[in-house]
Amino acid sequence: MQYKSCQWVNRGIEFRTDSLRLCCYGYLQGRETEHQTIIKENYHGEFLNSNEIFEIKQKYKEMHKKGEYLDACKDCIYLYEKDWDDENYINHFTFNHWTKCNCNCSYCYTREDKKAFNSYKEYPLYPIIKDMFKKGMIKHTDEACVIFGGGEPTILHEFDKLIDLFLVNGCKNIRINSSGIKYSKSIEKGLKLGAISLVISTDAGCRETYEKIKQVKTYKKVWENIRKYAKAAGNNNLLKVKYILYPPINDNYVEIDKWFDEIVKNGVKAVSLSVEQHWYNENQPDFTPEIYKQIEYMKERSKKLGLDLEIYCEALAVLK
Ligand code: SF4
Ligand code: SF4
Repeated sequence: MQYKSCQWVNRGIEFRTDSLRLCCYGYLQGRETEHQTIIKENYHGEFLNSNEIFEIKQKYKEMHKKGEYLDACKDCIYLYEKDWDDENYINHFTFNHWTKCNCNCSYCYTREDKKAFNSYKEYPLYPIIKDMFKKGMIKHTDEACVIFGGGEPTILHEFDKLIDLFLVNGCKNIRINSSGIKYSKSIEKGLKLGAISLVISTDAGCRETYEKIKQVKTYKKVWENIRKYAKAAGNNNLLKVKYILYPPINDNYVEIDKWFDEIVKNGVKAVSLSVEQHWYNENQPDFTPEIYKQIEYMKERSKKLGLDLEIYCEALAVLK
């Protein structure tokens, strides 16, 4: 049936530290309504009951068929019109079930209490996903995707096992956000196979700004790892290095230019651009004219350098 909906209501699931959600994008419409995308509260790694999950998702699908949307979804950039089938399966995953990280970004939600966030133990996810495959809850289509958010995925206990499980089951679209501090052979393998896309946010083109934002002394190491990943990715654009515009720390043209120099020097073929989430939430919908100019400037520079550019959801929402 033809109607406006999104992949996440139809096929998606997000695993958080304490809940299951439809997706991780509810915040784009504002923090007040974000909780509406919760499928199950107080979730801490129990096996999933497929009837229960699909019944909840069906409720939202029926709403969309009637042109009704949660406030969290109303203006979402991921809604679009198409002929949606009514089959029940999951093939969009976001893993946000752990918070430990080897980096210390000043814009990270974990900054409030880094020590606590780094000490939480994640629930074992591998048996749950394995069980979902066994129960036939997962079906791979061309649109399928698996997204690792976190926390830092490469320090996750089950990281290599989870990657293998999805690769063995034919998933070719695993998206990983990493600090880039720890080099991962699993990621290297996935890049070579063309099944993993990797995003590393450096947000800076010099050590000083990097350390101001990231609060770790790993600038050189990260760019060394980026260079190795770029080699593994070859010409397939599966490695993206990201710049999160973070006023007032890195939203200047000198820093942006230095960052583009590092991109070229280290053989990166694709970049990603975003706007820092807290700044986005505090300033929406009246963004400064400067942020539009900088986004346009980065688009222009990427084009001139022949780089593939992905504009991330916050920056897309600014432009919208
Ligand atoms: S419409 Fe947007 S916020 Fe709502 S479930 Fe879909 S992706 Fe998530
Ligand atoms: S790399 Fe990600 S998870 Fe780690 S501190 Fe930075 S924003 Fe937070």
